[in-house]
Amino acid sequence: MKSQVLICLLFCISVQAQVAPVFNRAPLRENPYTALPIGAIKPQGWLKEMLVRQKNGATGQLDKLYPLVMGPRNGWLGGDGDQWERGPYWIDGLLPLAYILQDTALIRKVKPWVEWSIKSQQPDGYFGPSKDYSPEPGVQRDNSHDWWPKMVMLKILQQYYMATGDQRVITLMTNYFRYQLKELPAHPLDHWSFWARFRSGDNLKEVYWLYNITGDKFLLDLADLLHKQTFDFTNAFLHSPLLSQVGSIHGVNLAQGMKEPILYYQQHPEQKYWDATVKGYTDLRRYDDMVMGLYGGDEDLHGNNPTGGSELCTAVEMMYTLETTLPVTGDVAYADRLERIAFNAMPTQITADFMDRQYFQQANQVMLTRHTRGFHVNHSGTDVCYGLLTGYACCTSNMHQGWPKFTQNLWYAGADKGVAALVYAPSELKTTLNGKQISFTEATNYPFEEQITFTYTGVNTAFPLSLRIPAWCKQAKIVVNGKTEQEPAGNQIVKVNRSWKKGDVVVLQLPMHLNNQRWYENSISVERGPLAYALKIGEEKKMVRITAADSIDYGNSFYEIRPTTPWNYALYATPENELSAHYTVVKGAVAAYPWEPEKAPITIKTKGRIIPSWQLYQEMAGPVPFSTIFQLELGQEQDIELIPYGCTHLRIAQFPVVNR
Ligand SMILES: [Zn+2]
Repeated sequence: MKSQVLICLLFCISVQAQVAPVFNRAPLRENPYTALPIGAIKPQGWLKEMLVRQKNGATGQLDKLYPLVMGPRNGWLGGDGDQWERGPYWIDGLLPLAYILQDTALIRKVKPWVEWSIKSQQPDGYFGPSKDYSPEPGVQRDNSHDWWPKMVMLKILQQYYMATGDQRVITLMTNYFRYQLKELPAHPLDHWSFWARFRSGDNLKEVYWLYNITGDKFLLDLADLLHKQTFDFTNAFLHSPLLSQVGSIHGVNLAQGMKEPILYYQQHPEQKYWDATVKGYTDLRRYDDMVMGLYGGDEDLHGNNPTGGSELCTAVEMMYTLETTLPVTGDVAYADRLERIAFNAMPTQITADFMDRQYFQQANQVMLTRHTRGFHVNHSGTDVCYGLLTGYACCTSNMHQGWPKFTQNLWYAGADKGVAALVYAPSELKTTLNGKQISFTEATNYPFEEQITFTYTGVNTAFPLSLRIPAWCKQAKIVVNGKTEQEPAGNQIVKVNRSWKKGDVVVLQLPMHLNNQRWYENSISVERGPLAYALKIGEEKKMVRITAADSIDYGNSFYEIRPTTPWNYALYATPENELSAHYTVVKGAVAAYPWEPEKAPITIKTKGRIIPSWQLYQEMAGPVPFSTIFQLELGQEQDIELIPYGCTHLRIAQFPVVNR
């Protein structure tokens, strides 16, 4: 009996003990924030619904849906199947999902990948698949020694440690990083493929993370070596036309690489690394961005035309890069951009049942059919159709990390010994702070609602709660236990410093104002708070079966969607102070899953004018007419409805402008 109690006690501790947040250790620079352990933040409301749909959808059963790659033959399970990135991509999303939801069935599914990876380590420190196999359709069986897929597995193992505290992760990483330090001079990052040289910021992040735990000095030497072998993003952003030149870089490499200068800044806090990061995002906005916060990258960089393609991998990787950059910088801009992608790009590119996704999405997207379009890369014309494998299967494998990691980055631990809510969604925080149990509920329908209510449910203790005021918010209001305490302007992080008592309530009000932003060819977006609004277009959805010859690449079927109502509208030029007179905001109930055209919680009613000459081209919206064209022929004025971008499948989100 005694021994049973002891076993239970040990087991309970090993399961429940929360790992401490990992702060930078000298000489790494002190960051304002750092990630909390996995499990500290639980999604609620619509965000929980997203994660549950992932569990019931493709994330929870990709081994059954895509057995050729994710089944027991996968190289990361010791098999002779796929040896490269796809298996780790899936687990990089499934693992945090499993531990955030504390779902034992999903944890059971993740474990063999973790166990095989840990046990695969060789005496010299190498880990992962090590044998190449001959080509096989639909499977990547060569390049098993490539540095790149291991970077994804390092991300997974780091999260596994942050969820469980399993010390074997520390041993594996220490041994592997020693191996890297020894091997990289002879076999540099781009020895096996060019991907690792652009994506090694992800490797660098884990090296610093381990250094902060163990203090092993050789890790800082490895960090310097990795930086030296990585594509020079710092110089490219500061001194080259990289971001203004079409075709200059692969879109996903860019999304991943954007984090490298600011990560290295932690070890060498020179201004140029900070400036390169700022200039990188500034130039993206100038030359490449579309309204949903992503850029033309189909697959190479393709400017800011709203019919350019944005790959789903880019969305989730850019989110992860912003989630990495935000705690290092404490800059509101990265949180604003993260929300722009999460609340606009993400929900539309994956179906409501989390079973199908688009390889490319377009900001102006009116026809989702199998057809070759003006993208840099086309996959037999399937790239914009919703399917499990349409386009290319990297996104099928990689899309799962988006929402779990977003959940994990709603809250941070602060260097000020407090906690920070820097990104907003319904959630619950439970963690240990300065040895005391603290917890908050965050009740809100944000981004569909302007109010967020934080209720303190932990033990009595004093600490600062930091809150982000987005740049789009002109003036926020913070009400504590019914009393207005602050009315801060936008674009800053403010603190609520107090001795917290159970039941304390902080209400954060973030008034959302209508505004227009300018984009490609002077087109405009309609925005309100973190959401962009797009033309609601009638849809005709049709399932298309794929021939046997094509199915290995594109799956058994996919969905095409065609418009049943006109889409070629211009909006009137309207001064900002008159927008509310011409745009009527209609608020409705927020459904459990709000991201569908018929469930849009907010509709904006306004007037538009048809542009008869703006027609389909290559089965997509033709070139968006310049704003404004003198003497452009226009149709009758009509009532139109705009709904949140994230609720649409078909849309115009960057409109041409005409004079009233
Ligand atoms: Zn992809």
